[in-house]
Amino acid sequence: MTTILEVEQLRTRFRTDSGVVSVVDGVDFSIRAGETLGVVGESGCGKSVTSLSIMRLLPQNGKSEGTIRFNGKDVLGLSEKDMQRVRGNEIAMIFQEPMTSLNPLHTVGRQIEEAVMLHMKVSKAQAKERAIAMLKAVGMPRAEEIYGEYPHQLSGGMRQRVMIAMAMSCDPKLIIADEPTTALDVTIQAQILDLMRDLKEKTGTSIMLITHDLGVVAEMCDRVIVMYAGQVVEETDVDTLFESPKHPYTIGLMNSIPELDDEREYLETIPGAVPLPQQMPKGCRFAPRCSKAMAICNEQPPELLQLGGQKCRCWLYQDGGEQA
Ligand code: SF4
Ligand code: MG
Repeated sequence: MTTILEVEQLRTRFRTDSGVVSVVDGVDFSIRAGETLGVVGESGCGKSVTSLSIMRLLPQNGKSEGTIRFNGKDVLGLSEKDMQRVRGNEIAMIFQEPMTSLNPLHTVGRQIEEAVMLHMKVSKAQAKERAIAMLKAVGMPRAEEIYGEYPHQLSGGMRQRVMIAMAMSCDPKLIIADEPTTALDVTIQAQILDLMRDLKEKTGTSIMLITHDLGVVAEMCDRVIVMYAGQVVEETDVDTLFESPKHPYTIGLMNSIPELDDEREYLETIPGAVPLPQQMPKGCRFAPRCSKAMAICNEQPPELLQLGGQKCRCWLYQDGGEQA
């Protein structure tokens, strides 16, 4: 399978009042054509910053180093003009809260049309036709009417369908979806996931799916990277993730999947919190929260090791692995 996106030693830093902080710290991964890669971890682990680095949409005080190769292009080396062509056209993004990325003053039809016209050489009439076709493709009832409605007239689930319609309207090769269903209730969430899976099967687009929800991962993903404190700590195919997770952090995430009738808050079972970038532990970044921590864990950072088809960054496996 061809690789569509390759990220090597990505480092993203921000200038802040308290100095330069490193939020993504040497991240490597790739996405193949037609594949859905899950990016999992708690908030503050660098998942969203990784995706914004790929899109080159970091705030002013952020800067990325390393290599991002997308479809043969050196993303970090592109001019802003060339990057604009990549955004939306070849890589599209779907966010958690569509209300913040839709323009409240324009009808949904106009917004999809504008996305189409920005990236495809079509007439206004053709763009309208495509906008309505996309609304139908994402399962909108009354697509012609919805075309003329404003975002606030739609429910959260419908707005997310509009976002997906916009994202798909230019046939992107890669969709980056950042917590696309987190703001939706469970029934609508399932519908949106079904829709994304259907569209992916029809179009062959690749998806980078950022989520803290392992249920979503089980439903959607082929492979997964688990991020902790700005680094990849585990990489595996989805079956192995559920059958034999290796990193203590991944295992903690697994144990904190709530049962169906369980009202616990998410992640109750991993004590403590993700360290702040200014206060990274010197050894393993997970050590302060790890029940398996050994003396060496507090002293030296573990490398990401290849263990068969899996990769894991943990001293527990140091003897059985090779450097990845
Ligand atoms: Fe836990 Fe040590 Fe492994 Fe870190 S390296 S996850 S502290 S066992
Ligand atoms: Mg995020």
